[in-house]
Amino acid sequence: MSPLKPGHARAAVAPDERFMRECMKLASRGKGRVSPNPLVGAVLVRGNRIIARGWHRRFGGPHAEVDCLRLARGNLAGTTLFVNLEPCAHYGKTPPCTERIIASGIGSVVIAMKDPNPLVAGRGIRALRGAGIRVSCGLLEAEARQLNRFFLKHIARAMPYVHVKIAQSIDGFIGGERAPRYLTSSPSLRLVHRWRAEHDAVLVGAGTVHADNPHLTVRHSRGHDPHVVVIDGRLSIPEHASVLRRDRGRGVFLCVSERAAAAAKSKVQRLEARGILVLRFPAPKGVLGLREVLAALYRFSVGSVLVEGGSSIFTQFLGEGLADELSIFVTPLMLGAGVPVFGSGRRRKSPFVRFTGFQTRRVGKDVLFTTQFRQGR
Ligand SMILES: [Zn+2]
Repeated sequence: MSPLKPGHARAAVAPDERFMRECMKLASRGKGRVSPNPLVGAVLVRGNRIIARGWHRRFGGPHAEVDCLRLARGNLAGTTLFVNLEPCAHYGKTPPCTERIIASGIGSVVIAMKDPNPLVAGRGIRALRGAGIRVSCGLLEAEARQLNRFFLKHIARAMPYVHVKIAQSIDGFIGGERAPRYLTSSPSLRLVHRWRAEHDAVLVGAGTVHADNPHLTVRHSRGHDPHVVVIDGRLSIPEHASVLRRDRGRGVFLCVSERAAAAAKSKVQRLEARGILVLRFPAPKGVLGLREVLAALYRFSVGSVLVEGGSSIFTQFLGEGLADELSIFVTPLMLGAGVPVFGSGRRRKSPFVRFTGFQTRRVGKDVLFTTQFRQGR
């Protein structure tokens, strides 16, 4: 890199940020395809020009750095590799990226954030520096952490990231006889379907299956159908429910109490014969512990869950501090009566939650409130 006059110091920062933003844009293309791996993009820069781009495209495929370098030839000594996550230094499904970077002869590497995965955690940076490569870390780190929030949660906590999504009328109802089939506007519907494609699984309670018989597939956006998780302590949902159809190749997790599974052995056998995973949990007061459900899902490599209903599920997730992110669509409609957002079912009280830092935006004719809870609650 050429020395810069002090007066040009600000101008020197901007292109680096542009390159790192490009990495994150490329990384985003892996949403819904690379889990439980992180989203990673890389660009190779000579002078002020990007000469190669790459990203982690699918789980088990080449990492972003290798994808970026596959076409780079010749002397790369004067080039800089930008990547939004520390390159790996261990043998996983593919050889370590640090080896590929070192072999390529690249002069500098700019990284947005360290990889908290204990298998990496600084080893990648040390390996590169040990080979004489200039390494800097921390450019746009906050954005990089936001991009990989699903990954950061499950690496740190061995639990999937939980995103609770609520669609409600102005007077606080989520459904009922007066509610239209889709409460919110079509732009909101498209956004929710995009979220479904970006999460590993969609979760609902048995009440939602009984009331709406939803498909929980991706129809109004592009992408893969997420796995389905149904919380059904009493094993009450009908065997022909739409969520139990496996014709689109996705996994179906039916979470039931041990007692209900023992009382309906033949139903369980028929469901399991169809490839449905019936997960049994102790339920001391007739209610499944969601923490145990999440831990079990994580053991099946489910790294993120979109929670879509209904009242008692929302109440339980928020009340027990299990949500990482909350999105509420408020649609300009008064229903006057129906199913309230919180507290129905088992006469639960609404949880007390103090929110800090809600963001709002318009989506179609709806208002979307979004907040994220601090990790480690
Ligand atoms: Zn790698």
